[in-house]
Amino acid sequence: MAKLRFDALNHVMNRPVQDHPISTELISDYYGSSVFHDKAMQQYLPRDIYKKIRECIVTGKQLDRNVADHVASGMKAWALSKDVTHYTHWFQPLTGRTAEKHDAFFTPTAIGESIESFGGGELAQQEPDASSFPNGGLRNTFEARGYTAWDPSSPAFIISGTLCIPTVFVAYTGQALDYKAPLIKALQALNDAAVPVAQYFDRNVTRISATLGWEQEYFLVDAALYSARPDLMLTGRTLFGHSSSKGQQLDDHYFGSIPERAADFIRDFEEESLRLGIPIQTRHNEVAPNQFECAPLYEEANLAVDHNLLVMDVMEKVAHRHHFRVLLHEKPYAGINGSGKHNNWSLSTNTGVNLLGPGNTPKTNLRFLTFFITSIKAVNEYSDLLRATIASAGNDHRLGANEAPPAIISIFIGSQLTKVLEDLENRVKEKDMSADEKTELKLNIGKIPEILLDNTDRNRTSPFAFTGNKFEFRAVGSAANCSGPMTVLNTIMAKQLREFAAEVDSLIKKGRKKDEAILAVLRTYIIDSKNILFEGNGYGDEWVKEAKKRGLSNVKTTPHALGAYLEKKVVDLFEEAGVLTHEELEARNEIYLENYKLKIQIESRVAGDLALNHIIPASLEYQSKVIEGVRGLKEIYGEKDFKRLAKPHFEIISSISEHVTLLQSNVDAMIEERKIANNMEDALESSKYYCEKVIPYLETLRYEVDKLELLVDDELWPMPKYRELLFTR
Ligand code: ADP
Ligand code: MG
Repeated sequence: MAKLRFDALNHVMNRPVQDHPISTELISDYYGSSVFHDKAMQQYLPRDIYKKIRECIVTGKQLDRNVADHVASGMKAWALSKDVTHYTHWFQPLTGRTAEKHDAFFTPTAIGESIESFGGGELAQQEPDASSFPNGGLRNTFEARGYTAWDPSSPAFIISGTLCIPTVFVAYTGQALDYKAPLIKALQALNDAAVPVAQYFDRNVTRISATLGWEQEYFLVDAALYSARPDLMLTGRTLFGHSSSKGQQLDDHYFGSIPERAADFIRDFEEESLRLGIPIQTRHNEVAPNQFECAPLYEEANLAVDHNLLVMDVMEKVAHRHHFRVLLHEKPYAGINGSGKHNNWSLSTNTGVNLLGPGNTPKTNLRFLTFFITSIKAVNEYSDLLRATIASAGNDHRLGANEAPPAIISIFIGSQLTKVLEDLENRVKEKDMSADEKTELKLNIGKIPEILLDNTDRNRTSPFAFTGNKFEFRAVGSAANCSGPMTVLNTIMAKQLREFAAEVDSLIKKGRKKDEAILAVLRTYIIDSKNILFEGNGYGDEWVKEAKKRGLSNVKTTPHALGAYLEKKVVDLFEEAGVLTHEELEARNEIYLENYKLKIQIESRVAGDLALNHIIPASLEYQSKVIEGVRGLKEIYGEKDFKRLAKPHFEIISSISEHVTLLQSNVDAMIEERKIANNMEDALESSKYYCEKVIPYLETLRYEVDKLELLVDDELWPMPKYRELLFTR
């Protein structure tokens, strides 16, 4: 096996440098060229059809079948002009990534003849077999049908000669089996709730969308080294590996110049992404060696989610061409920063206003405060649910590990806005304000934009931070589908805005002036939500204690966090908003638990196999060599001296025996625990057992293996070491 490690290293060192010519095209020449976007639609669709589909995109209305036929025909003509032969409905099953089933346009007609066909039916709806996707019991086994239905708000695109049509994926009964369907419903609920509130300030607002700007972190690792690490290949992370003498302590990677080979890869995958209309703008090195980040300009949330999933796919595909593998796992290496995916979130109106951006008049700033404070209140009310949306086996390694925001949900707003909220709380009284009070308040509200410009003390340790004109949800894991957190965030915001409007309207009915009614309700929200605001160091132990005092939850592991989905308050929330039914929530909860359990099960199996088949044999081989050495010493020096001279040998021999003994017995004990967990019928019980009883063994095994790594001859060590994985370029 050590051979595999050295072959891999040789392979990397001797790989010819590839010449990737830098494209001389301007990005604007090819940006979006693989997307059936507005310009292509205008070119390929009759005018009236184009108008109808635009309307559906803007209002979220259903497309009628006749229009779909025309759109399909235009889309086909566009695709054929780009040498496309197949089409697929592209969807987001609850596996967390994307799925596709390709069909050819090509249709045989008579013997030896064929046409390229694609009608409204094929565009609008397909019937992939749902039985191989997680469904959480939503579908009886005899009724395997699932439907994918076109989501016109996300444009079709071409990847590798295939026309991809973004779709929702639902069961025969109409229940959602994917991430997209609930997101679209949540965005609709948000619109319905937010428009009346925005209209307090501007009657022209008729449509509100959520915006999402994600920042994706990832690691690159050489393909050959990756292939010599079964743990990376099968679990996405290293289960063993002693930390490298040099890790990230010098912080010399962050924002450093991007190594040439990585830069080639980045340019290449960015170009493909840009062709797909994904507005990638930012790239830089991250803190850890071989860790990078990319971020596009923000977009409407549903589209942004699709684009994030696409980018993850494109990255993986392009990485192969560069002999890299992309690690999207939240924690590929112990002792080295993990990867997250910041979700920057805001609300935007059809009139072009960012509702979380302060304006320049007291009126627009009151609007800002309204959306700002309702967001805080929403997060405060549903913090456990937000925690649940970021729960995954991978993310459990990050949250609370002094490198990522803790598992405690809190909000950072900066000192100036804290002051503004204090002022509001103290000045606005239950009764109407005096003229002086009003003027003073207005003056203060009017000052918000100036103070925000100065507000540069951005706290990087907060899981949910206000950053000038948006909230940044930083605790999302790098491998996650942003749909989960986005569905929740928009649903809780919808609920809060509905409540807000009802409270304001009832005060207005009682004779209060509109502005005063708004301020009065906001004041109660400020008082209610104080607990969740935290400006200090979120990574510190102090905060853990303080948060406990405040009664904030600190749920560290996935099986425990997921319970929030089934709390009555949460079920009511989703049902009222029409986003997910109780049954759908139960199914999802079950799928997430099962997924967690399977991941830990695989990790545990891989760790056991590696320990028994790789680590122990290599260790024993080295031990025999050392034993051989002892014999040699005895032969040369005789009985009298060899014992003194062989002291180091004896130490190594006994240390290896001790570690190997512990390794072996712990693998056996872990297998016994796995058996118990596997026999549990209940998904919650079983995944909790995996979490509490099996994971500790993974840590014990790692400890023993990492000790052996330092003992065993480097020549015999079977797997690439951290220094090789992290620093080979
Ligand atoms: P960081 O310092 O966290 O890297 P940046 O300012 O570089 O932050 O990135 C901010 C991200 O926020 C970008 O992806 C950007 O597109 C996004 N963003 C900016 N404005 C909005 C908005 N109104 N809604 C959603 N996302 C936004
Ligand atoms: Mg960020």
